[in-house]
Amino acid sequence: MISVTEHASLIGLNTFGIKAGARYLVQLDEEKDVQEFLSSPLARHQPLLILGSGSNILFINDFNGVIVHPRIRGIEVESSVSGHEVIIKAAAGEPWDDFVGYCVKRDFGGLENLSLIPGSVGACPVQNIGAYGVEVSGAIEKVEGVDLQTGRKQIFSSKKCMFGYRDSVFKHEWKDRLLIMSVTFRLTRNHVFSTRYAELERELDNFAETSPDTIRQAVIAIRRRKLPDPSDLGNAGSFFKNPIVSKDKAASLLRTFPTMPRFDAADGQVKLSAAWLIEKSGWKARKLGNAGTYKKQPLILVNHGNASGAEILELAKQISRTVMNRFAIPLETEVRIV
Ligand SMILES: Cc1cc2nc3c(=O)[nH]c(=O)nc-3n(C[C@H](O)[C@H](O)[C@H](O)COP(=O)(O)OP(=O)(O)OC[C@H]3O[C@@H](n4cnc5c(N)ncnc54)[C@H](O)[C@@H]3O)c2cc1C
Repeated sequence: MISVTEHASLIGLNTFGIKAGARYLVQLDEEKDVQEFLSSPLARHQPLLILGSGSNILFINDFNGVIVHPRIRGIEVESSVSGHEVIIKAAAGEPWDDFVGYCVKRDFGGLENLSLIPGSVGACPVQNIGAYGVEVSGAIEKVEGVDLQTGRKQIFSSKKCMFGYRDSVFKHEWKDRLLIMSVTFRLTRNHVFSTRYAELERELDNFAETSPDTIRQAVIAIRRRKLPDPSDLGNAGSFFKNPIVSKDKAASLLRTFPTMPRFDAADGQVKLSAAWLIEKSGWKARKLGNAGTYKKQPLILVNHGNASGAEILELAKQISRTVMNRFAIPLETEVRIV
């Protein structure tokens, strides 16, 4: 049975720890709850927002509508396609890192670089989560969901998901329309590891061998050192995307800043480090009221306690403006502002 709370608090449902409320919070615990929700008047109430664990969302106001929160659990090893691959399906409400741990424990490779990313399985395709040289799109076989407008089941092959850098169709035409119910992954048994990332390579020197398990341990160690734990300091990870600029723009910046970090991107473009741009714009470890940039990583905006969503947004705007004035580069937010 669906559980509906009127005037619900969202403080435990967003990792920024913002004190926002929702007019209605609908929690779905089983697959059949979706049909019950669709036949209730709440399904026609607007606006509607789908919420996972709230680790990529900033609430700047109370949400005067319906929040649908899928908590459906379950992991199924569907088939062992060949001796080398395994197909595994996880329900939307599975905590992402528990699922990665489940796979690594069974020596299924492909997701280990994405260890310790907060959030739910259902959200992983939405922004095509990525870390340490790996994007989840590389392991996704299909995404299944329900169209909340028609009630019809929809299956998206990896191609149909239109994955890009922190992007997919689920952030555009299917946003708050497709309720992702499960994600199916194609994982490996004969592993090809991605360890090009210099910091990861160095961390792996502490281990005698490279395996999904040691990569997971290395990634967890790096992330624990570098990133704030949302239960101690509210945050939603990187607030901005790394900007992608033309080769000419990058070349002109490099004449002034020869050591500027840069990476090859698609179509001959160049990806710059948003953290570097922000730091060079004078925003390292700064505070603005109760909001601030994290001392070890200025790309992460933090709630120093009791910050409102509007305060965090004001900080983000000021950072964007300074980066624009200094480098003529617009910053795009990675976090969804609601
Ligand atoms: C400390 C920290 C570190 C992080 N590090 C990384 C990182 O390294 N790489 C990275 O990519 N991200 C990172 N993130 C961001 C975040 O963890 C991911 O974006 C994660 O996938 C969000 O999951 P969620 O369940 O919290 O989604 P939410 O924040 O609840 O939602 C995010 C988006 O997905 C949609 N959504 C959620 N569930 C569903 C569903 N079932 N069906 C349809 N739409 C849905 C929402 O509507 C929203 O648009 C980090 C966040 C934190 C706090």
